[in-house]
Amino acid sequence: MLTAPTTPVRQASVRAHNLALVLHTVANGADRPSRAAVAAATGLTRATVSALVDDLVAGGLLVEVAPPPRTGAGRPAVGLALTSTGPAGLGLEINVDYLAACVVDLTGTVRHRYVEHADQRPADPERSLAALGGLAARARGAAEADGLTVTGAALAVPGLVTDGLVRVAPNLGWQDVDAVAALRAVPELADLPVTVDNEANLAALGELGATGGNPTFLYVSGEVGIGAGLVLSGELYRGVRGWSGEIGHVTVYPDGRPCRCGARGCLEQYAGQEALEHDVPLAAAALGIALSVVVNLLDVPVIVLGGAYVPVFAALREGIGVELRRRVLTAGLAPVELRSAELGADAAMRGAADTVLRVVREDPAAWLRRGA
Ligand SMILES: [Zn+2]
Repeated sequence: MLTAPTTPVRQASVRAHNLALVLHTVANGADRPSRAAVAAATGLTRATVSALVDDLVAGGLLVEVAPPPRTGAGRPAVGLALTSTGPAGLGLEINVDYLAACVVDLTGTVRHRYVEHADQRPADPERSLAALGGLAARARGAAEADGLTVTGAALAVPGLVTDGLVRVAPNLGWQDVDAVAALRAVPELADLPVTVDNEANLAALGELGATGGNPTFLYVSGEVGIGAGLVLSGELYRGVRGWSGEIGHVTVYPDGRPCRCGARGCLEQYAGQEALEHDVPLAAAALGIALSVVVNLLDVPVIVLGGAYVPVFAALREGIGVELRRRVLTAGLAPVELRSAELGADAAMRGAADTVLRVVREDPAAWLRRGA
């Protein structure tokens, strides 16, 4: 027979839920809300909110700050804000021509950023990951010298990932690489939880964090390869096995250029970074053809172009638009919105760092227990 959880267990889980709710309200609600404003927004009593806020302040997740300028009568209340000295996420990226690491604090500010430009293709995975581990260790050291506590690391890779294993990253020449184990072998990272995910997925999450709201969009990441992350009503859609978004291998010209994947005429061969440098109008047309397939199939209203597409966005926009207007059945009814990524080249590692901070945001009780 099933029994209800015992009272202390239930109370602990209610408290954990309410801590997350208060933290979320301060992060996403009005500017520097007072305790009373948090109570009003959450529906919790003022006494409950006050006790939770005390715990979050004592635990180093919230700080009390001057309130925003007064608009009404009465005594100005103390405002609340996320701390910039508490937990931090370490975002890492390995791509064909660079390695990167950044540290992001709970307010979403990038506090440290290291980028090393070097072609990773001739190197074996062990060497690339050892070099990245060195950058990551430097970033963590700098963050901790600033009083931040790095709670985890997440790595963005241009490939297919399952259960922490990079199954295949065609443009790096990687197959079945245990990137998590390699990073945790770096002594300065050995105690950190480390995760790995596809770079376009993480960039889409980075873009979602930067723009907020509950949007639906396709994020297209232009690197040497091309990946995409599909965000549906604020949630990343990964596909059944986590392999969705391989738009780089959508066929745009069936008898076209051979691709590294073994097929012909893939989008990547016309609109990947190297092709883009040679012929922007051809890249725009190829992107427009591939994106029209996505829009016709999924009714995605917004397409965000990131990575190498950001600096040439103005030049791409018209050419992509021509193809979308020509090929999307509903283009005359509702034009597809095309925009350039907010975060530019840093989107994937920012998104990676955000997945670490999301763990803290969703379960602040765990962070408070750790600090105790
Ligand atoms: Zn291909």
